[in-house]
Amino acid sequence: MSLDRIPLAGVIGSPIAHSKSPLLHGHWLKSLGLPGHYVHLDISSDKLEEALRFMPTLGFVGANVTLPFKERILGIADTVSDRATIIGAANTLIFTKDGKIFADNTDGYGFLENMYQSAPNWKAADGPCVVFGAGGASRAIIASLLDAGAPEIRLTNRTKQRSEKLRDEFGHRIAVVDWVQAGDVLNDATTIVNTTALGMTGKPEFTISLDRINPNATVCDLVYTPLKTTFLQQAEDAGCEIVDGLGMLLHQAVPGFERWFGQRPMVDEAARKAILG
Ligand code: NAP
Repeated sequence: MSLDRIPLAGVIGSPIAHSKSPLLHGHWLKSLGLPGHYVHLDISSDKLEEALRFMPTLGFVGANVTLPFKERILGIADTVSDRATIIGAANTLIFTKDGKIFADNTDGYGFLENMYQSAPNWKAADGPCVVFGAGGASRAIIASLLDAGAPEIRLTNRTKQRSEKLRDEFGHRIAVVDWVQAGDVLNDATTIVNTTALGMTGKPEFTISLDRINPNATVCDLVYTPLKTTFLQQAEDAGCEIVDGLGMLLHQAVPGFERWFGQRPMVDEAARKAILG
C-alpha cells in the first residue's frame, strides 16, 4: 500500500445493502484513528471478475465476500488459502501489491476465537461435539472443530444426504445422526453448535428437544438475530454455558481488517454495539 493513498475495502455481494460489516469496519477505523473507508459493493454476477481485477487500481486493498459469491470466488482468485480450500468457500480477499487476489476463509477462525473469548475454559478436545446443520457455515465449523482437536463430531441435518457428503469429505471423526434422533446424542456432548438458520428472526423455530442435554456442555448458536435464541435460552435454562453468534461475526472480520488497514482491532463491547447499530 502506498503511503499517499487512502486504503479502501468493502463487502461484495448481491444484494448487499443489508450487510452490517461497514458499521463494524467504520467503527474500528474511527476508534483506531486510521485512514481508510469500507463500503457496500453490490456487483452483478456477470461483472464479478472484471470488477475484482479493477479494484486494486481504484485503491482497494481487499474485500469481504458474501452470498452469492463465496464459492465462486475460489475459481477467480489467484491463490486460495488451505482453510478456504477445505471449507470450499472464501469470505476474505487480499489484493497483493502485484494486483493478485488471495482468497481466505476466516469463518472457522471467527467461530473458535468467539468460543475462546466467551467461554475461556472451553476446549474442542474435551469431548464429543454435536453440530446441527450441514450447510455452508457448518463446513467451517466442522473444519475448525476438527483442527482444534474434537475427538468426534455428531452431525445432524434435516437433509441427511448433506451430512453424509460432509462425513465423506471430513472423514472418520464425523458420525452422521438422523435429524429425528438428534435429541438422543446430547447427553455426553461437551460442545453443541447450531449452524442451521432455525431460530433466526423470520425463520421457523428450532424444535429438537434439548431435554437430554449435558448441563456441562458449551452451546453456541450461529444465529445472532435475536441475540439470545430460544435454542440458547433452553440450553442456559438446562445449566449450559452459552455463546451467541454475534461474536463469531466480529472475530471473522479481524484478520481482514488487520491485513488491509495495518492494525489489529479489538472485539469488545463497543464493537458489538457498533454492529448492532
Ligand atoms: P445454508 O448453507 O443455506 O444452510 C442452511 C442450513 O439450515 C442447512 O443445514 C439447512 O438444512 C438448515 N435449515 C434451513 N431451514 C431449515 C428447516 N426449516 N428445518 C431444518 N433445517 C433447516 O446457510 P449457512 O450459510 O450455512 O448459514 C446458516 C446460518 O448460520 C444462518 O442463520 C446464518 O445467518 C448463520 N451464520 C452465522 C455466522 C456468524 O458469523 N455468526 C456466519 C455464517 C452463517 P437442509 O440442508 O436440510 O436444507
